[in-house]
Amino acid sequence: MEEKTIAPDEILRATVFSSEAAVYLARTTQLCDKARQTHHASPLAAAVLGRTLTMTAIMAFSSFKNEDDRLTVTLNGNGLIGKVVCCGMAPVDVKGYVEDPNLDLPLNEKGKLDVGWAVGNSGTLTVIKDLGLKEPYVGRSALQTGEIAEDFAFYYTVSEQTPSLVALGVHVHPDLHVDGAGGILIQLLPGCSDETITRLEQVGEKLSSISTMMMEYDTLDGIMQTLFDEDFKILQRDTPRFRCDCSRERIDRALIAMGYEELKKMRDEDNGADLWCNFCNTTYHYSGEQLDNLLETMRG
Ligand SMILES: [Zn+2]
Repeated sequence: MEEKTIAPDEILRATVFSSEAAVYLARTTQLCDKARQTHHASPLAAAVLGRTLTMTAIMAFSSFKNEDDRLTVTLNGNGLIGKVVCCGMAPVDVKGYVEDPNLDLPLNEKGKLDVGWAVGNSGTLTVIKDLGLKEPYVGRSALQTGEIAEDFAFYYTVSEQTPSLVALGVHVHPDLHVDGAGGILIQLLPGCSDETITRLEQVGEKLSSISTMMMEYDTLDGIMQTLFDEDFKILQRDTPRFRCDCSRERIDRALIAMGYEELKKMRDEDNGADLWCNFCNTTYHYSGEQLDNLLETMRG
C-alpha cells in the first residue's frame, strides 16, 4: 500500500474579501499525533485534545506579541473525559491534556468520534491570556455543544465581542495515528460589508470537513485558494509545535515553593518523591538525597 507523506504543520494569518475579514488557518497533523503519542490517547481523546490544541495554537498565533506571552484554555463541560486543559506559549508552542486519555465511546449518529458527548455541554470554556499587561485577561463563556469549534465561535462572539467562524477537525486513521488535523478561525473586521458576510456564510458551508481538506491538500495555500478564490492576502506564517516547557529546574522551584516544613515532611515520610507533569506525561523522581540538597539550599 502506498504511504502518503504527511504535509508539514503550518499556521498562517491572512486577510480575505477585500481585507474585510481576518483568517487564521492551521495544519496541526503532526502536533496532534505527538500529543496522542505523549498521552497514549484513545482516538476519541486524541480528537478532543487535538481540536483544543489546534484552537489554542490559533489563539496564541492571533494574540501573542511578546516572547513571554502565554495563554491557558480550560474546557470544563462535565463530560466523561473530564477537564481539558491546553496552554499556548510564544511563538506557537502548545501543550495540553485531558483528564481521561483512555475514554472510548460509541460513534455518533454521523459515524464520527463523539467529541460533544465526551466533553459535555453543561459547563464553561475559560481563556486566560497573559500578554505582559498588569493583569491577565480572563474570558469565559458557556459551552454550547462540547464539539469545541462551536464553543470557541460562541466564546469569540460573546466574550471577545468579535463575530467569528471556527472549524476544527482531527482525523484518526484506523491504525490509530492522526493523519489529518487542522483548524480555521475567520473573524469579521469592523465595517465589513453585507456582501462579505454572505460570502463568508458560503465559505462556512465548505468547512464541515476541515480534517479531510488537510489530508487532500499539500499546502495551506491550496486550501486558501479553494475557500477564498484569489481574494486573499497572506500576511504571516509560522510553525505550530507540541512542546512542554517543564524541566527539573521548574520542578525544583515548585518543591521549594511548598515551604521548608512540607518538603521536610515529604523527605522524612517518603524518603523521596515522584512528581508528574500532566502536560507531557513525564515523571521526575527525587531521591531522599536530592530532597536533602533542596532543603539545604532553602536553609542557606
Ligand atoms: Zn511537561
